[in-house]
Amino acid sequence: MKPLSIITETFSESVIREMTRICDEAGGYNLSQGFPDFESPKAIQEAAIRAITAGYNQYPVTFGEPELREAISRKVRQYNNIECNPKTDITVTCGATEAMIATLKALINPGDEIIIFEPFYENYGPDSILSGATPRYVTLYGPDWRYSSDELAAAFNEKTKAIIINTPNNPTGKVFTKAELEEIAALCIKWDAYAVADEIYEHILYDGTEHISIASLPGMAERTITINSISKTYSVTGWRVGWAIAAPPITKRIRKVHDFFTVGAPTPFQHAAAEAMTYGPEYYEGLKSHYAEARDFILGALRTAGFQCELPKGAYYVLADASGIMERLGLTDDTAFSRKLIELTGVATVPGSSFYAEKAKGSRQVRFCFCKKWETLESVAQALTAKLPK
Ligand code: GLN
Repeated sequence: MKPLSIITETFSESVIREMTRICDEAGGYNLSQGFPDFESPKAIQEAAIRAITAGYNQYPVTFGEPELREAISRKVRQYNNIECNPKTDITVTCGATEAMIATLKALINPGDEIIIFEPFYENYGPDSILSGATPRYVTLYGPDWRYSSDELAAAFNEKTKAIIINTPNNPTGKVFTKAELEEIAALCIKWDAYAVADEIYEHILYDGTEHISIASLPGMAERTITINSISKTYSVTGWRVGWAIAAPPITKRIRKVHDFFTVGAPTPFQHAAAEAMTYGPEYYEGLKSHYAEARDFILGALRTAGFQCELPKGAYYVLADASGIMERLGLTDDTAFSRKLIELTGVATVPGSSFYAEKAKGSRQVRFCFCKKWETLESVAQALTAKLPK
C-alpha cells in the first residue's frame, strides 16, 4: 500500500483527549481535559431546545447566523473594547479549535514562522504543522510565567508571520498584562506580523485581574485575529460554537477556509449562543466566583499532597511540579507518573510534556483542571491526600 500522508506522521494524537479516554475506562476523576462535569445553565439548554423546535435544523449561514454575529459584535464592543462589523469581520466556526486552524490556514505561506509562548495548549503544535508554519518558542518562566523581553524580541524576524497569544493562558494561568501586550503589539507592528489571540478563558479571572484584548490596542485591530467560543464561558464544550474576529481582508480568507472545512457550526446552538450573550454581569460574576473558590480549594489539596504549584491568575488549570512525589514513587517521567496517579488515586491529569515542544521540559509536571463540581474536587482532594506517598 502507498504510504499515508507524511505530515500526519509528524504529530501524535492529543494527549489531553487520550487521557479522557483512559480516565473513562478506569472510571476515574477527569481532571485532564478542560470541560466542566457540572450542568450548563438551564437557560442556555432551554434556548437550544427552543431553537430546535423552532426549526433551526438545517445548514446555518456558512460564516455564522446573523443573530449570533450581531450578539458577538455587541458583546466584544462592551467587554473587549473591540469594534467589529458583524457583516464583514466575524466567522463563526466549530469551536475555537476550528477558528485557530482556519486562521493559520488563511495566514501562512511556506517558510513563514509563528511565535508560540511555551508551555502552550497542545493544539498549537499540530496547528502549526498542518498550516505549514515553522514554530519558534518563547519560554514563559515559572513561578509567575514571565517571558524575557530579549528572548521575545529575538524571536521576531522578517519571516515572522504571526504570534499566538493565549490569555488567560492554558496551561499556566498567566494573564498577560497591558504592558506585555503593548510590548508584543509594538513588535508585531515593527515586523509586520499578525497577532492571533486565543481568549477563550476571558471570563475566568482571579484576584481582580483584568483581561485585555490585544486587538483593542492602537494599530492592532487590522492585524489581530481574536478567537473565542462559548465552550468555557457558558460550560457547553460539546456544542462546538466558536468564532474568529478579524478585519475584512483576513475574514474573507478565514471564511473560505472554514466553508470548505466544515460548512458551518451547529445551527440551533448558534441561536442559543446568541441568547446566552445577552446574560447580564451577574452571570459572569457567578462563574468567576465559583472558579475562584474551586481554585483555592484545589491548590490547597495539591500542596497538601506534595505538589508544588502557584495560584493561577486566570483560566481553570494548575500546572503543578510533581518532582517530590515522583521521586518517592521512583518515577522519572510525567507520562509514567500520570498513569500511576490514575492507578493509585483515580485522578486523571495531563502529562506536562504535552505542553512543550521539547518534551523533557515538562517531564516533572502534570496539569490539573479544576472546572469540576464540589463533589468531584472533594473526592480528588481525599484521594490525593490518602493515597500518595508522603
Ligand atoms: N482546552 C481544553 C484543554 O486544554 C480541551 C479542549 C479540547 O479538548 N478541545 O484541556
